[in-house]
Amino acid sequence: MEEKQESQKSRTYKQSITEVFKETKSTENGLSSADAAERLRTNGYNQLAEKKKKSSLQLFLETFKDAMVIVLLIVAVVQMVMGAYVESLVIFIVLLMNSVVSVIQTKKAEGSLEALKNLSAPDARVIRDGKEQTIAAKDLVVGDVFSLEAGDYVPADGRLLEASSLKVDEGMLTGESTSAEKEVTEIEGTVPVGDRVNMVHSGTIVTYGRAKVLVTAVAGQTEIGQVAGLLESTDEHKTPLQKGLDSFSKKLSLAILALSLVILGIQLARLFMGDQSGDMTESVVQAFMFAVAVAVAAIPEALQSIVTIVLSIGTKTMAKKNAIIRKLPAVETLGSTSIICTDKTGTLTQNKMTVVDYYLPNGETGDFNQEPSSWSLGEKRLVEINVLVNDAIIAEDGSKLGDPTEVALIDFSEANNQSYREIRETYPRQNELPFDSDRKLMSTVHEIDGERLLMTKGGPDIVFDRCDRVLLDGEVVPMTEALRQKYQEQNELFSTRALRVLAFGYKPLDQQEITFDDENGLIFAGLVAMIDPPREEVFQAIEEAHSAGIKTIMITGDHKTTAVAIAKEIGIFKEGDMALTGTELDELSEPQLVDVLKKVSVYARVSPENKIRIVRAWQTMGHISAMTGDGVNDAPALKQADIGIAMGTGTDVAKDAAAMVLTDDNFVSIVSAVEVGRNVFDNIKKSIAYLFAGNLGAIISIIFALIADWSNPFTALQLLFINLVNDSLPAIALGMEKGEPTIMKRQPRDPNAGIFTGNTLISVTYRGILIAVAVIVAQWLGMQHSAEMGVAMSFSTLIWCRTLQTMPARSNTQTALQAGFFSNQMVLLAMLVCAVLYSVTLIPGLREVFAIPAAFGLEQIMICIGLALGATVLMEATKLILVAFKKEGAE
Ligand code: ADP
Ligand code: MG
Repeated sequence: MEEKQESQKSRTYKQSITEVFKETKSTENGLSSADAAERLRTNGYNQLAEKKKKSSLQLFLETFKDAMVIVLLIVAVVQMVMGAYVESLVIFIVLLMNSVVSVIQTKKAEGSLEALKNLSAPDARVIRDGKEQTIAAKDLVVGDVFSLEAGDYVPADGRLLEASSLKVDEGMLTGESTSAEKEVTEIEGTVPVGDRVNMVHSGTIVTYGRAKVLVTAVAGQTEIGQVAGLLESTDEHKTPLQKGLDSFSKKLSLAILALSLVILGIQLARLFMGDQSGDMTESVVQAFMFAVAVAVAAIPEALQSIVTIVLSIGTKTMAKKNAIIRKLPAVETLGSTSIICTDKTGTLTQNKMTVVDYYLPNGETGDFNQEPSSWSLGEKRLVEINVLVNDAIIAEDGSKLGDPTEVALIDFSEANNQSYREIRETYPRQNELPFDSDRKLMSTVHEIDGERLLMTKGGPDIVFDRCDRVLLDGEVVPMTEALRQKYQEQNELFSTRALRVLAFGYKPLDQQEITFDDENGLIFAGLVAMIDPPREEVFQAIEEAHSAGIKTIMITGDHKTTAVAIAKEIGIFKEGDMALTGTELDELSEPQLVDVLKKVSVYARVSPENKIRIVRAWQTMGHISAMTGDGVNDAPALKQADIGIAMGTGTDVAKDAAAMVLTDDNFVSIVSAVEVGRNVFDNIKKSIAYLFAGNLGAIISIIFALIADWSNPFTALQLLFINLVNDSLPAIALGMEKGEPTIMKRQPRDPNAGIFTGNTLISVTYRGILIAVAVIVAQWLGMQHSAEMGVAMSFSTLIWCRTLQTMPARSNTQTALQAGFFSNQMVLLAMLVCAVLYSVTLIPGLREVFAIPAAFGLEQIMICIGLALGATVLMEATKLILVAFKKEGAE
C-alpha cells in the first residue's frame, strides 16, 4: 500500500499535465465545493498528525506522582488502618478535589492556547466553483487549484499550471540555501526532489513571483509529510516569567520542605521528651501529617497553571483588540516595550489611496484631460503604464482587489473615462518582474501598436536613476541634468504635500524574456501623486505611547519628504528630530548610528536589511523594541525584534516569523496590545502576591505557636482544605482584574527586574504579617475557652483573611472601593465560593472532622470575620497612606 502510493506520487512530476488532471480528477478550474467537501470527508484534513495531547485521565493520574501527595496518601492509608475512617476519607476527597481542580486548570490553559493557534492558522487561495476564495489550508484536497505569490508558504504538494518568475525556497526539503527557480515544463526520467522544477512542495516558501498550482498530494502524502517525524514541533515555549517562576518555585519548595522538617523535628522531640501518656503512634502520625500539610499548603503548586491561565486570558483580550499573539512570551515582552518601529502605509495611514495629481515631462499637471480620444501620446502612455504594470482588478460586483496603490491607479484611469479592462485586453501581458520592497520597482512587457515595450513603475528617485531619455511632447529626447533636476523638484513638491508619488518609464524591447538588468535605459513618462490619509485614531495612540514612555518610529519604503510630512501630521516627527534614508543609514558607522539613534524618528526608503540594523542598534542600547513588517524579506527583522509584528494582510512568512499579528493592520492595536501586556504582568504579580501573602500568614502563625508552645493553630486537614479553597479561584479571578488607571502613564517595565521587585516584596510581607496577627489573636481568644476552640478560631480566621484579602490584592494603587467594588465580578464570585466552602466545615457531622468544637457558634464566627476584616481594612488604609505620600513626594 505504502509502496504503491509512493510510486504514484513520485511519478507526478514525470506525467503530462493531462495525465495529472486525469489522476486527480480535476481541471484547470479546480473543483466544485461539493466535490471538495466529499474528498475532504473521505481523505481527511491537509495537516500532519500532531503529537497526542495528554488525556484528562493521564493528567489526573500525574497529579498523584507528586511526592507530597504520595506522602499524604500514605498518611491517609495509615489513618484508615488505625481506624480514623472519616479523617482518611476526607483527606482522600480533598486530594481528589485538588487533582480535579488542577486538571481543569491545565485543560483550560491548554484550550486557550489551542484557540490561539487556530486564530493564526494558514490560509490558501483556491478556485472552487470557478471562483477564487480563501479557505483554511487544512481544507485543501487533491485536485484543488490554488494560487501562490511571494511570501506564501506552499500549503500542499502540487504541479504548476502557471508560473511567472516563480522562485521557491526549498531549504527545509533539500537543504539548498538558494531559492529554486520553478517553471511549467515536462520532465523526463527520474530526478531528485530538488530538480522537480514543475512542482512545488508543501512547507516550502515562495520568495518571488506567482503561480497557479494543482494539488497532487496533501498531509502525510506530501514530500514533507514523509519526513514529518522530524517536524513535530513541540511549540511549548515557556515565557521568561514562567522560567523565572520555575526556578523560584523550586528554591521556595526546598525552603518550605526544610521548614516542615524542622517543624516535624521539634514536634517529635517534644513528644518523646514530654510525658508519654496517650497514644504515641497516633501522635507521631499526627505530627508527620501536619508537617506534610504545611509543605502542601505553603508550596505554591498552582503557580504555573495560574500564570498560564492569566497569560491566556491576556491573549484573548488582545485578540479582541485585533492583536493575535503567536508566541506566548510576547505577552510579557509587550509590557517592557519601549520602542515601536512601525510601517507607515496601512498601519499609520488608512491605505485608501486616491490619485490627486499627476505630472507629465512637459510640465502638464493638475486636471487630467478626461476625453481619451483626444489624449496626447504622453497622456496615453501614462494611463497605459498605470493600468498595465498593475495587478489590481475591479471585480464584477464592483469590489476592488489588489494593492491599494495599484487600485488607485486603475481608479485614475476609470475616472478619466478609460476602461482599464479594455486596455488590459488589448495589450495582454507577455512577461513581468513583480514588485518587491527591495527594488521598489515593477515591470511588465506588452506589445503596443506593433512595438514590444517594457513598462516600469516605481519610486521616483529610483526610476529617475534608470531613465536616460524622456518622452517630451510626443518626442523621445535625451534626459539632461536640467530635466532630471526639474523632475526631482516636482517629486519633492508633491512629497511635501504628504503625497505618495510613483514614476513611470518604458522602453522598446527586442526579446520577450527579461531580467532585472532590463529595468535600465528607460524613457521617463511622468509622475502620479496620491494621498493616503492618516488613520484617525493614530494621533492619540502615538500620544498615549509617548506618555507610557514608548517612542514611536516610522520606517517606510516611501520617499523621505512624504514620510516626514505625514510623520509631522501625526506627531511622530517633532521639533529637532531627524529623518534618515536607507542609503544615509548605510553610510553611518555603528558609533555614528548610536549617536543619532535617539533623534531619528523617520527612516525612509529603507530596505528590509536596514530594519534589522535599526532594531539591533536599539537593542544594544538596552531597549525592547517592536517592529512591524509584512513582506517576505521582513522575516529576519521580525525575528530579530523583541516583538515582531506582522500585518494580517501580510505574507505567511512574515506572520510565521512574527510574535504577534495585527488583524486590522492598525498601529492603534499595537498600543492596545502593549496596554494589555502591561496589565497581564500586573495581574500575574497580583495573583502571586495574593498567594504568597496568604501562605506567609499561615507559616508565621504556625511558627509563632510553635515558639509560644501553643498547640498547632491548624490541623493538617484544615491546612489542606484552605489550600483547596483559597489557592486557585481567587488567584485566577485576580488575573482578570482590569488595568490600573496609571497603566499607560508609567515607564516600561525593566525586562530584567523579576516579578518580586522591592515594593511587591514589602507588600507581601506586610499583608502576611497582618494575616498572621489576626490568626494569632484569634487563637489566643479561643484558647481562653479551650485549646480546641483556639484551633477552630485560627482556622476560621485564616480562611476569612485569605478570602477577604482578595479585595486589597486587586490593586497596588487603589482601594477596592476606588477601583470599583463590583468592577471585577469574578473576584466577588470567587469570594462567595470561598465563603460557601467554609460553611461546609460547620455542617454537623463534618464539624468533627474539621475539628470545630460544638461550642464554636455564631459569636465566634463573627469574631473571626471581624479580625479578618480588621486586617483587610488595615491593608487598604496603608495603601491610601502610601499613595498619598508618594503624591506628596512627587509634587
Ligand atoms: P511602504 O509600505 O512603507 O509605504 P512599500 O515597500 O510598499 O513602502 O513601497 C515602497 C516604495 O515602492 C513606494 O514609495 C513606491 O515608490 C514604490 N511602490 C510601492 N508599491 C509599488 C507598486 N505596486 N509598484 C511599483 N512601485 C511601488
Ligand atoms: Mg507597502
